[in-house]
Amino acid sequence: MRNDVADAPTVPPVGRFAPSPSGPLHFGSMVAALGSCLSARSRQGRWLLRIEDVDLPRSVPGAADGILRTLEAFGFAWDGEVVWQSRRTAAYREAFARLKADGQLFGCACTRKEMADSGLARDGTRRYPGTCRAGLPAGREARAWRLRVPPGRIVFLDGIQGRIEEDVSADVGDFVLLRADGLFAYQLAVVVDDAEAGVTEVVRGADLLDSTARQIVLQHLLALPTPSYAHLPVAINGAGEKLSKQTLARSVAGAPPARVLVDALAFLGQSPPPGLADGGLSDVWQWALRNWSLARVPSCRAAPCPAYA
Ligand code: GLU
Repeated sequence: MRNDVADAPTVPPVGRFAPSPSGPLHFGSMVAALGSCLSARSRQGRWLLRIEDVDLPRSVPGAADGILRTLEAFGFAWDGEVVWQSRRTAAYREAFARLKADGQLFGCACTRKEMADSGLARDGTRRYPGTCRAGLPAGREARAWRLRVPPGRIVFLDGIQGRIEEDVSADVGDFVLLRADGLFAYQLAVVVDDAEAGVTEVVRGADLLDSTARQIVLQHLLALPTPSYAHLPVAINGAGEKLSKQTLARSVAGAPPARVLVDALAFLGQSPPPGLADGGLSDVWQWALRNWSLARVPSCRAAPCPAYA
């Protein structure tokens, strides 16, 4: 565990918001945008924006532009150019090649159907049973490429959720870095992108908590720094589902920005004063930047938000 807090020079943090363009911004994504932005900006840090369109089949045409426009309308201002994952294949290929040259990858012939009996990891993905780890079965070809996950526990101190521990090799197994459809996996893209952008803190929804240990494994193998992590509660609907396009979550684009931001602040435990929204967007931002406290964010993984479901 690092213990350099007392001596550390006060380097401004670099945070980021990294939406997947699978639909319009809903309240849950707004919470992640706001939490990541306030965490960095309240300490004079930089805040970056990356559109995670690495998963092209799940990207909805026009969604990214809608997200950017909505963020602007809500008073968000990011540093530098927007990074698009769909334009960063060369960087992912380079990291992939390094891992491959180091013997950390293996080709896998298994189909989803063949793995259907395998147990489930914490996040509901199939645990890889190790079928092709020692070589492809005779007559089979590699469909995907997996990381040879080293055994051992990953431990990190989440700024909101506390101590998190996971043995990725036991819980998830060797996970995919290059998919059968030829696309690089989110886990690889996010690690390469965060490192290249100099991101020092990742503040995002707790639905990604179970990906974090995988990402730390990759950072270790690629000799990249590990940022600090803080996972915000995820907004859920009455049925306990995370707000998403699938749950038909409402877009926040049509709602009054100051009102939505104040509701997001309340969701994040910041206790905005009554009437704050009436003063308009700039009052809300001013109050939020002065009063933001990560310590006040509830340390649960999910919380309901009936008004925006
Ligand atoms: N693109 C992911 C999402 O929209 C977020 C990834 C991240 O913040 O690391 O859920």
